[in-house]
Amino acid sequence: MKNFPKTLIGFYLQYAVRPFRGILIAWALMFTFVMVANGVAWPWFQKTFIALFENGHLLGGDFIRMALPTILFISIGWFIIDGFELWQSVLGNRWRPKVQNEINEVLHDYTHNQSMGFWTERIVGKVNAQINYVSGGFGVLSDLMLMLSALIVVILNLYLVLDINKYVAFMLLFAFAFRVVYGVLRIKPMNKASKTAADSSSSLSGKVIDSLSNYSIVKLFAGVKHEKKHLNPARQRNIKDRIYSGYMQRWFWALPMFVWDVLFGAMLLLCVYLFSKGDMKVSEIVFTISVYNVVMGSISNIIRQIPNLVDVIGSAQKSYHELVKPIEIVDADGAQDLDVSRGAINVRNVSFKYKKKLILDNLSLNIKPGEKVGLVGPSGAGKTTLVNLLMRFYDPKSGGIYVDDQNIRDVRQDSLRRNIAFIPQEPTMFNRSLKENIAYGNPDATDKEIRVAAKQAQADKFIMAAEKKYDSMVGDRGIKLSGGQKQRVAIARAFLKNAPILILDEATSALDSETEAAIQKSFEELSRGRTTIAIAHRLSTLRNMDRIVVMDHGRIIESGTHNALVRKRGGVYAKLWKMQSGGFIQD
Ligand code: ADP
Repeated sequence: MKNFPKTLIGFYLQYAVRPFRGILIAWALMFTFVMVANGVAWPWFQKTFIALFENGHLLGGDFIRMALPTILFISIGWFIIDGFELWQSVLGNRWRPKVQNEINEVLHDYTHNQSMGFWTERIVGKVNAQINYVSGGFGVLSDLMLMLSALIVVILNLYLVLDINKYVAFMLLFAFAFRVVYGVLRIKPMNKASKTAADSSSSLSGKVIDSLSNYSIVKLFAGVKHEKKHLNPARQRNIKDRIYSGYMQRWFWALPMFVWDVLFGAMLLLCVYLFSKGDMKVSEIVFTISVYNVVMGSISNIIRQIPNLVDVIGSAQKSYHELVKPIEIVDADGAQDLDVSRGAINVRNVSFKYKKKLILDNLSLNIKPGEKVGLVGPSGAGKTTLVNLLMRFYDPKSGGIYVDDQNIRDVRQDSLRRNIAFIPQEPTMFNRSLKENIAYGNPDATDKEIRVAAKQAQADKFIMAAEKKYDSMVGDRGIKLSGGQKQRVAIARAFLKNAPILILDEATSALDSETEAAIQKSFEELSRGRTTIAIAHRLSTLRNMDRIVVMDHGRIIESGTHNALVRKRGGVYAKLWKMQSGGFIQD
């Protein structure tokens, strides 16, 4: 967690001071200079120019001595300010995409390192929205700088007006103070409202993505209306929360605005009164009105930024805390790589719970190097959980799992998973090319090695028949491939990975019998020389296993070869085998 301080501000500060230090500091200085120069120079230039008329410095030698230098000074002054403005915007344009992308990348990596438990409690779309909130939130640095500059402008101008007339300065100060006090009082409810709105927006976004990504089910069940109805409460809540949050924001700046309008009238009256008494000159009145406008504009800048700031920071803060949860499964200090020379697996007295529900109950299982074990049992028996523990997606509550006598808790997770090839029922595919999907098994593989693996998996034929061959895209989650083709890509991936341990979790149960028989051959080929665990409902697929292990209620209730178990009188496996129609277990 060392790159993830407790607070969002601490997290952002790292980026403000570390990698982009040069650009950021240059930008911040220049930005402040431009804002302050704009705010202070404008009234002052106006006053200086009007004073030329007041003092009659416009003709003859006076023009050369006074008017011309003043005009030149004002023009060059603006030229310099505008030049700096352009420069700061160029710099701002450089750091924003860089920093925001880096934050996005860091959070993306971190969430990928989260354990399975993190994902089972979340919607992917929402996680994506939260990452964007945090990376986008860094942009408020501009708003903060704007506010800081506006504050400097207000203070400098108040000081300059104080020199002309203390009553006018006092009125400006009052307007400013009123705004600040009012703002501080309103900030908490506004913050709360915007956090609620942000939360409902990311929830809605998560639900929409969940709905869209299940487009095939929606189509299949003509579920458009149902989806609309399902999303409606979240949409309504989002509309309500956003309107309320917007209302709180308007309320935040509208009232003080009207108060200022009243004060402006009062200040004009005061100017007329002071002029009539000879206490104020025309240039000073122009200066005062100009300062009032600039100060009002600056305060408005501060005030209008606050809701946005609160909104963005509120969303980013909430997202940051939800994303940067401590990772449950971490490598032990000084963990070494798993060293697999034989591929023996020993599950020793393992118990496991999901929340409070006991799933594995003091389970022990020893698998010899190269042994092929079939895991069977009714749904919910804990088979998938057992292999999830073996891949260290979760840690057992008690007991331990050993690979070649090394406790998997003590080795680096990456090295453990490098040694295991896992093929699920529905292998997941990236929306990338066939080649990239296969190469995921070994990113360093050459094109030749990829082709050899595809041939071993009997995938080469259908790939070569595709329009762009190995460069053909597989579509969203592999939609362009049939179930059998997806399995072949997954097998090719596993061949390429060349891991000593192979786990198949219902890997053929989604396929038709003909495809299953063909794929089964590839599995046999793949499992040669590897320690294999195959979970299957269809018992016929496990006949060639060295041993069958039957599980129920998180325990092993029978174990032996297929033939021995089938013959066992009153045995559960024998009963399941009999109950099968066409090789299926009835749950
Ligand atoms: P099997 O593979 O034998 O069908 P599983 O290992 O998938 O069984 O599931 C065992 C039990 O654990 C089931 O009752 C299931 O509901 C529960 N379970 C599985 N995953 C989770 C989870 N992420 N959170 C809570 N319970 C879970």
